[in-house]
Amino acid sequence: MAGLLSGLESLGLGNLENVGIYDKEKKEEKVREKAKVRKEPVFSETDFIYDKTFRCPACESSFTSKIMKTGKAKLIRTDFDLRPVYEGFAAEKYDVLLCPKCGYAALGRYFSFLLPAQAKLIREKITSNIVLTKYEDPTYSFEQALERYKIALACSVVKRSKSSEKAYVCLRMAWLLRSYREYLETQDGDNEELIESLQSQEDEYEENAYRGFLDARGTEDPPIAGMDSTTLDYLLAQLAFSLEDYPTCSRLVAGILNSSAGNPRLKDKIRTLKDQLSEIRNSEDKTE
Ligand SMILES: [Zn+2]
Repeated sequence: MAGLLSGLESLGLGNLENVGIYDKEKKEEKVREKAKVRKEPVFSETDFIYDKTFRCPACESSFTSKIMKTGKAKLIRTDFDLRPVYEGFAAEKYDVLLCPKCGYAALGRYFSFLLPAQAKLIREKITSNIVLTKYEDPTYSFEQALERYKIALACSVVKRSKSSEKAYVCLRMAWLLRSYREYLETQDGDNEELIESLQSQEDEYEENAYRGFLDARGTEDPPIAGMDSTTLDYLLAQLAFSLEDYPTCSRLVAGILNSSAGNPRLKDKIRTLKDQLSEIRNSEDKTE
């Protein structure tokens, strides 16, 4: 299986390809059932994005990046792992800001926060090696967006960011891979091999998001990646269930239901998860 940072060699960052982002062991991948197929987009992607100017905190140059317009795309659902799904628009493509001059990249939420020591690390380990591709089309393709995420993940490792930032990049990357897969599932042609590969990459990033957020929960103060503690526990419970870590899932579910915090809709979803956990326990009891 390719590493989280594979594909960086063509960008001059091959030395980072095999770096473990949390420096811990990988668990085995697993196959999950395919998400529902989304309807054909009826809008042009350019309707939902615009060019905004940013200042790079690593090299001080100004550049423009395509970002999502607020309030324009219509939200049609939220996935189990909090991924917002918009009608005809894969919003995750436009989450990463990438400086075309020095190669520093991060999710918009984190981009501006760079300490002088971190900027130095970026210049030494990213800027001096990276060979950037040009993004000249009016939109980013899925492949281009994936490349931008990989650079952002490499930068987060190089600048020694907190687990929560790396976890958040991994989570959003899993969302992007799902968007790509769902898009391909609506297209004609023989895409089965690519779809399978996207699914296994999605599983790998999601598992890394889970591990990173679990670590962040024990070592960082909320808000974590913009989430209050109940929302983070909700996300972790969902990821734990999806990754079949039932004991952790069960503990998180109990904690959320016993807490007075958290919105009622989120609690309803947690009750559904609790029922699913009970079903699994019952079926395990029967087979024993
Ligand atoms: Zn820069």
